[in-house]
Amino acid sequence: KGANNMAVTIQWFPGHMAKAIRQFEENVSLVDIVFEVIDARIPLTSQNPEVARITGEKPHLFILTKKDLADREATQRWLAYFKDHGQPAIAVDAKDHFNINDVLSVINPIMSPKLAREEQKGMKKRPIRAVSVGVPNVGKSTVLNRLVNRRAAQVGNRPGVTKGQQWLKAGKKLELLDTPGILWPKFASQEIANKLALTGAIKDSVFASDDIALFGLKHFRARHRDQLMARYRLNDDDFALSDVDLLLLITKKLGMRDDYERASNRIIQDIRNNKLGGFTLDNLEELQPNVTRND
Ligand code: GDP
Repeated sequence: KGANNMAVTIQWFPGHMAKAIRQFEENVSLVDIVFEVIDARIPLTSQNPEVARITGEKPHLFILTKKDLADREATQRWLAYFKDHGQPAIAVDAKDHFNINDVLSVINPIMSPKLAREEQKGMKKRPIRAVSVGVPNVGKSTVLNRLVNRRAAQVGNRPGVTKGQQWLKAGKKLELLDTPGILWPKFASQEIANKLALTGAIKDSVFASDDIALFGLKHFRARHRDQLMARYRLNDDDFALSDVDLLLLITKKLGMRDDYERASNRIIQDIRNNKLGGFTLDNLEELQPNVTRND
C-alpha cells in the first residue's frame, strides 16, 4: 500500500512546477531578500531545495509559521540551529501577535549596509523589497496579510492564478510582491510524504488515511505518550500493542466499532488541531552535521 500511495503522490506533483520556478526566478531578480515560509512542525521537510539555489547569494529569511502548533522546545532548538548556521530565521504564529516589526528587527540589520551604500552613491532612499515563497498551505497568504495589514492577499491555496503582479506596502520600510512563489515539496521518501500529509501540506485525497494515522500514532507514542493516553483514555498496558492494534483499540474507544478509516480521519484531525498538543516531526537529532536541506 505504501508504494501505491507514493505513486499517487508523485502523479499529483504538478506539471506547472517548471513554470512556478521560472516565475519565482523572475521575482527574485526584483527583490533584496527572499522570505521562505516554512512550517515550524517540519522545518526541513517544508523547504524546497530549489529556493536556496535560486536565491543564491541574496539574503534569505526563514519564517517558521504555525509555531503555536509545534513543539515549543523543538522550535527553540531549530532556531538555535539556524542561528548557529548564520541563517536568519523567526518563528511566528501568523494568525496571532505577529506583525511587521518581527520581520524588520531581523532584516533591517541585514539590509542596512546595502541601503546605506546606495544612499552614499546618491540614490534615493527606498524600502526593502521582498518576495515570499513556500510550499502550499504553509501560511504564505496569512503572513502576507499580516505584514501588509489588510486583506490584500486571499487566504487559501490557489496556485497559478497570477495575473498582474504588484507591490504591497508593508509599513514604510518594506514592500512585498503580492504573489508569493509556490514551490511544491520534494517527495524524496515515503517518510517525507507522511510528514507533509499529517501536517496538511498535501491534499487529503492523495493519501490513505490509515497510513497517515499510523504514522501519527507512531510519533506520538514515541514522543508525547501522555497526550496520546489522555486523549484516547489509554493505559500503560495498551502500549504493548502494535501500532495497528493500537489504532483498532482507539477505533473502539471512539465508539466507531471497526470503522478504522473513520477513526483514522478523526485521529488525523485531532493531531492537526493540536488536541494532542504541539508536535514537531522533523527532529534535529536526525540531521547529519551541516545538512540544512532535505536533498
Ligand atoms: P498558503 O497556501 O501558504 O498561502 O497558506 P495560507 O496562508 O492559506 O494558510 C493555510 C492554513 O494555515 C490556513 O488555514 C491558515 O489559517 C493556517 N495558518 C497559517 N499560519 C498559521 C499559524 O501560524 N498558525 C496556525 N495555527 N495556523 C496558521
